[in-house]
Amino acid sequence: MSIVDYLNLNPNFFLVSVFLLSLLVGSFLNVVIYRLPIMLKREWQSDCVTFLSDEFKSEKSSYHFPEAVNNETEPFNLSIPRSRCPACGHQITALENIPVISWLFLRAKCSQCGSAISIRYPIIELSTALLSVLVAYYFGVQWLTLALLFLTWALIALTMIDFDTQLLPDNITLPFLWLGLLISLLRISEVSLENSVIGAIAGYMSLWIVYQLFKLITGKEGMGFGDFKLLAVLGAWAGWQALPLILLLSALVGAVVGISLILFLGRDKNIPIPFGPYLAAAGFISLLWGKPIMHFYFNLVGL
Ligand SMILES: [Zn+2]
Repeated sequence: MSIVDYLNLNPNFFLVSVFLLSLLVGSFLNVVIYRLPIMLKREWQSDCVTFLSDEFKSEKSSYHFPEAVNNETEPFNLSIPRSRCPACGHQITALENIPVISWLFLRAKCSQCGSAISIRYPIIELSTALLSVLVAYYFGVQWLTLALLFLTWALIALTMIDFDTQLLPDNITLPFLWLGLLISLLRISEVSLENSVIGAIAGYMSLWIVYQLFKLITGKEGMGFGDFKLLAVLGAWAGWQALPLILLLSALVGAVVGISLILFLGRDKNIPIPFGPYLAAAGFISLLWGKPIMHFYFNLVGL
């Protein structure tokens, strides 16, 4: 009996495995969400210093550009250095790094200095596990499920990074754009290659046009290029037919959340609200329930 047969015969075992595996993935996503923006900023800083020092050298200026500005030679990536308590530097042991459980056992405190560990870490781990189980339950044992799990994890990382830093890193959006086209090409999903390619183009272009019009009229930049790329990703995965629903859902949720933040929490309306989290949420919803929602809507308007 193959693994696929076994998982098909034991759906509960399949779902529990997905849940446990996704808790670990959620723990890794916490690292990505925290470190990737820092890694990118270091890279940009280093590029700027290199560029500017070259400029100064070529002008034979007497000004000595401080080359020591970016002397951070210690490696910093997703695996190095090991996770530490930001307050006291205590290196997190393997036992203290078990998703959700360690947080509960440590009572949300560092074992050495007692400073608080944010509840968002276990929340992200648990949300990752629950959303993954939802995908696994909905799509069952097939290759598409595996692909959609990776997409779900990417959307969670993008949501939180955009929320924290207003960035949607190319390191995540671009690979998932190509992956979306690839799963259509390999016929892993029901979306045809044609619908997938049109989805990617239309996803990017629709927001790009809105952006240019908004800039022309108000002189402000309403969203970032990361938003266009994210909608291109969703268009590639779900096909162009899903784009109106995704845009409608994200605008609805975005407007409700944005207006409530301004009205009830007194958020300054000039601070831009990231659009990425709403796009990601709307994309996830339409990948799972796009068909029933459309069906319901068409019934409602009597088509
Ligand atoms: Zn500590």
